[in-house]
Amino acid sequence: MSSMERIWIAGPCAAESREQLMDTAAQLKEQSALAGIKLHYFRAGAWKVRSIPEAFSGAGDAALPWLQEVQETFGVPVCVEVMNTHHVELCAKFGIRIVWIGARTSVNPVEVQKIADAVRHSDFTVMVKNPIIPDLKLWIGNIERFQNADIGMVMAVHRGFTDAQENIYRNAPMWQIPIELKVAEPDLPVLCDPSHLCGHVQWIPQVAQLALNYGFNGLMTECHIDPAHALSDASQQMAPADWVQMLKDLDLRSEVSNLELVKQRSMLENIDNQISELLYQRMKLVDEIAEIKRNNHIAVVQPHQWQQVVKRYQRHPEDQPYSDFLDKFLELLHQTSINRQN
Ligand code: PEP
Ligand code: MN
Repeated sequence: MSSMERIWIAGPCAAESREQLMDTAAQLKEQSALAGIKLHYFRAGAWKVRSIPEAFSGAGDAALPWLQEVQETFGVPVCVEVMNTHHVELCAKFGIRIVWIGARTSVNPVEVQKIADAVRHSDFTVMVKNPIIPDLKLWIGNIERFQNADIGMVMAVHRGFTDAQENIYRNAPMWQIPIELKVAEPDLPVLCDPSHLCGHVQWIPQVAQLALNYGFNGLMTECHIDPAHALSDASQQMAPADWVQMLKDLDLRSEVSNLELVKQRSMLENIDNQISELLYQRMKLVDEIAEIKRNNHIAVVQPHQWQQVVKRYQRHPEDQPYSDFLDKFLELLHQTSINRQN
């Protein structure tokens, strides 16, 4: 995925007010210019899809003139999420030529087709986020709907997938899926959105670096002038200065030489993330169990219980090349749990 210039997109999760947009854009523009980094597009969601009705859902139609002002004042193209043809019409009216399809819209090819018809034969650039469900065919199908629509440019954005497994990130990366996409569509620019993938700024730089190592063509990152007071996705929005620092620190070399190896490594990463999160959850549960035992005067060590635990780990007795490791691991796990409970 490596040969073309990387595309850097930054801006708030949601358009909250004219001032919030202008201030965020001013900071991003000024600080990136000082660092010699190009801000390709400024992003903001005018209309937000939220899980619960009470949540802030963006400034709505009122945000369009503000976004037009950002675009004209700072000379940076603005991009916006569209969910329906009315949104496309408003973008066209206010001079916004770059839109993206969100992960929730992306699960519905009927709605995606309506949007593709609305941008047909135009110079719109459309970025298609992966659907929240890990369905590569659906993602590729949505991309094709825009490729068939005769528009300016089509790109894909990987933002991770909803997954029933415990994970340190908000969404499971499942890197093998965007990598498969790139194998299927070698000329398609594929960006990563580390903000929605991670759900917390803490993880964003390392995930951004991983995406570049995997040969992604750019990043869409949420940045807010005052992240702590953001009205949506506060924990995953970076301050403009932190975003610039991250870009300065990124190693832009891509190490993609063997896609098969990259795929296997990315699956290993998924597993490590799950093990890490599960161990953390397990320790927390052990502490809660200790509390119950203490309150009810129950002995800490219950050999019968532990035998059950050991059995749970012997899942593949016929194919267990690491039985020695497993014995040691279980011993350590048991001892650590007992120590914590004492
Ligand atoms: C967004 O980028 O503002 C957004 C809502 O992301 P996603 O559709 O990936 O959840
Ligand atoms: Mn967001």
